[in-house]
Amino acid sequence: MLVAIVGRPNVGKSTLFNRLTGRKRAIVDDQPGVTRDRVYGEIEWGGRTIPVVDTGGYVPHSAERFESAIREQVDIALSDADVVLFVTDVTTGITDIDEEMTQRFRRSDTPVLLVANKADNDERRWAANEMYGLGFDEIYPVSASNGIGTGELLDALLEKL
Ligand code: GDP
Ligand code: MG
Repeated sequence: MLVAIVGRPNVGKSTLFNRLTGRKRAIVDDQPGVTRDRVYGEIEWGGRTIPVVDTGGYVPHSAERFESAIREQVDIALSDADVVLFVTDVTTGITDIDEEMTQRFRRSDTPVLLVANKADNDERRWAANEMYGLGFDEIYPVSASNGIGTGELLDALLEKL
């Protein structure tokens, strides 16, 4: 069993990974592409221990190689993981890369939970509704920074396992 955290650079994948695993040493940075390797950890929730991977990966700077790196990240996650946490960023809204990743997820049978991260307060939780524009039935607004919403996300995750 494996859960993969996927999303474009800077949406807060590593922060969420640290939050969900209770990891102390954060691999978080303002610069995209800082997480060079896949980082594995464990989520403990509802009496279960769930293996999880932060698929940050190396993100090259040239636009073309950037696109292929994103595609590769998604395809590896879809082949390895039983459930994907697809992380988006409420502060930027939906981007072209989010749309492209959504298309790829649609072609797979792997369950995908749409996480609207950086929903740190009520105003941003409200703004998170924009993410319904990606066409998922359900969205999970969370703040990886302060932990709001992560309980609901983990409850939903357990139901998919
Ligand atoms: P990654 O590239 O997707 O792994 O993103 P990071 O976890 O490295 O985070 C990128 C930036 O977003 C960092 O400056 C984080 O502090 C910030 N960030 C991550 N999660 C949140 C959040 O829930 N709220 C806010 N306000 N900032 C966040
Ligand atoms: Mg990262």
